[in-house]
Amino acid sequence: MAKVTCARCGRDIAMHELEAKTVARRGGFDTRYRCPFCHEDVKDVTDSLA
Ligand SMILES: [Zn+2]
Repeated sequence: MAKVTCARCGRDIAMHELEAKTVARRGGFDTRYRCPFCHEDVKDVTDSLA
């Protein structure tokens, strides 16, 4: 089971617990993920999902 650790609050976050946010960008859309506990951006998620 893939998990990530939040850099800010240090909690382990399961992939399904991440807050996904899709934002419009030039040329398309970008999905970003946030910690559900402190709402810090989680940046290394894409490696885990790839
Ligand atoms: Zn956090």
